[in-house]
Amino acid sequence: MAPKILPLWGRWPRGPEGAGAALDLGAHARPRHGRRPYREPPMVHPVFADLPVTVFEEMSGLARELGAINLGQGFPDDQGPIALRRKAGEALIEGSNQYPPMRGLPQLRQAVAGHYGRTQGLDLDPDREIIVTSGATEALAAAFLSLISPGDEVVLFQPLYDAYLPMVRRAGGVPRLVRLTPPHWRFDQAMLEAVFSEKTKLVVLNSPLNPAGVVTPDEDLALLAEFCVRFDATAVCDEVWEAVVFDGRAHRPLMTFPGMHERTVKIGSAGKMFGMTGWKVGFLCAAPPLARALASAHQFLTFTTPPNLQAAVAFGLEEPGDWFTAMPAGLQRSRDRLAAGLREAGFAVLDSGGTYFLNVDLTASGIDEPDRAFALRAVREHGVAAIPVSAFYAEDAVTNVLRLCFAKADDVLDAAVERLARAK
Ligand code: PMP
Ligand code: GLN
Repeated sequence: MAPKILPLWGRWPRGPEGAGAALDLGAHARPRHGRRPYREPPMVHPVFADLPVTVFEEMSGLARELGAINLGQGFPDDQGPIALRRKAGEALIEGSNQYPPMRGLPQLRQAVAGHYGRTQGLDLDPDREIIVTSGATEALAAAFLSLISPGDEVVLFQPLYDAYLPMVRRAGGVPRLVRLTPPHWRFDQAMLEAVFSEKTKLVVLNSPLNPAGVVTPDEDLALLAEFCVRFDATAVCDEVWEAVVFDGRAHRPLMTFPGMHERTVKIGSAGKMFGMTGWKVGFLCAAPPLARALASAHQFLTFTTPPNLQAAVAFGLEEPGDWFTAMPAGLQRSRDRLAAGLREAGFAVLDSGGTYFLNVDLTASGIDEPDRAFALRAVREHGVAAIPVSAFYAEDAVTNVLRLCFAKADDVLDAAVERLARAK
C-alpha cells in the first residue's frame, strides 16, 4: 500500500530494504552490482560468524514474501491499548525528547514497583532495585555481560529462547544444558544434580516458558531455588510472559522463594504486558548490589530507553483498568478456539498455560515429518507460517513439535486451521 503521509525529508526507501522488496536474507552480505566481492571479515567473533538470522525473522520473512498467515513470530495482530498509544503520542509531542535518567523515568520505576507489589507480592525499591531497559533483550544482555566472567558455568533449560546462548557464549560463559521435553517440559532433582556444580555462576529460567507455553510449577521453582542457594548461584529469570497466564493461574516469581531476593535478576517486558512487541521497554529488577552491576552494563549498551514510551508504560501500569484480567481472558479464548479447531482437524494439541503459544505434537498427530520440514512445507505450499520448536534446542533437539501463535483474530485462526489441515 502506498504511504499516506509524505516524509518530512529524504525519500521512502527503495531497493532491497524498501517496501515490497522480495525477501532475500543474504542480500546485505553480497556486493552491490559491479563491485568487487567483499572479503571475509577477519575479526568477526566466532559466536556470531556463522549465526543465521533467527527463526522468527526467517518465518516472518517467508510469511511476508508469500502472503501467508503468520502464526510464527509471537506478536498480536491487535495494535495494543489505544489509551497507551495516545499517552505515548502526547508524551512525544508535549513531553521531553531528551535523554531520560539512565535507570529510567522515576515515574516508571515507581509504577513497576507498584505493579509487582500488587500483582506478585514483591517489595522493590524503585530507586535502587529497578532499571528500565530497551526491551527484555537488552536486560538479558546487561545481565549476561555484567554477571558472567570467562569460564563461568551457566545452567540453561532447553528449549531456550534464541538470544540466550549466543549472548552467554559471547560473555565467556560455559553453557550447561538441561533438556526439557513434552508434554510437561518439567525438570527434576536428578536433572539439576547433573548440571549444577561449584563452577555454576548463573542459571537462566524462562517461565512462563516460550515456546512450550508452560508455567513452571511452584514445586519446581522451590527445587531450583534450593539449588541456587546451595551452589551460591544467581538466577536470571526471564519473566516476559508473566502477565499472559491462563485458567486462573498466578505467576510466581522465583525471586519470592526463600533466599532468592538477593540472588535473582527478574526481567520483564512492557511489550508483552501490553501486547505491543515493538515498544521494547523492559525492566531489570534486582537487589541493590546486583542492580548496580546491571546498571553498569546497561549504561554502555543503550544508556536509556525512549522517554515517551516509558511515560506511556508508566501510565498503563498506574491505571491499568481491567487490562490485566481482560487481556489474558481474551487470549485464553483465542487459545481455546485454535485448540478446538486443531483437535477437530485431527491434530494432537499440547496444553498451554501461558504465553501466546500453543504447540502441536506432530508425531501424535500422525505426521511423520520433522517439525522444520513441516513448517517450511506449511508456509510455502499452504500459506501458514509456524515455528519449529527444534529451533529452540542447541543439541539433541525435540523435532516433532510445532509452535503456533494464537494472538490473532478469530477468522485468521480459523483460516490457519483450514490450511494446516490441508498440510496434514
Ligand atoms: N524473552 C523471551 C522468552 C521472549 O519470548 C521474548 C520475546 N518474545 C524476549 C525475551 C524479548 O523481549 P523484548 O521484545 O522485550 O526484548
Ligand atoms: N519472542 C518472539 C517469539 O518468540 C520473537 C522475538 C523476535 O523475533 N526476536 O516469537
